Amino acid sequence: MYIQTRLINKTAISPKVCTSCNSEILIGQAYHREEGVKEHLHSLIARQFCSDCYAKYGELMLLSGRFDRK
Ligand SMILES: [Zn+2]
Repeated sequence: MYIQTRLINKTAISPKVCTSCNSEILIGQAYHREEGVKEHLHSLIARQFCSDCYAKYGELMLLSGRFDRK
């Protein structure tokens, strides 16, 4: 089942790890978190991306998973 999601610009209130590059997103840093356009996202693990990856790959690329995993 395909669930359409989008990325929301957030500020970290707790430390996170970028899904793409595994770098730490520190408290107070901006990041992008995946949110479901439809209601049941909590059954999935929301991906989260640092602002570097967002700038580098863009939303469509990140959501489709077509970025380089290192
Ligand atoms: Zn990243």
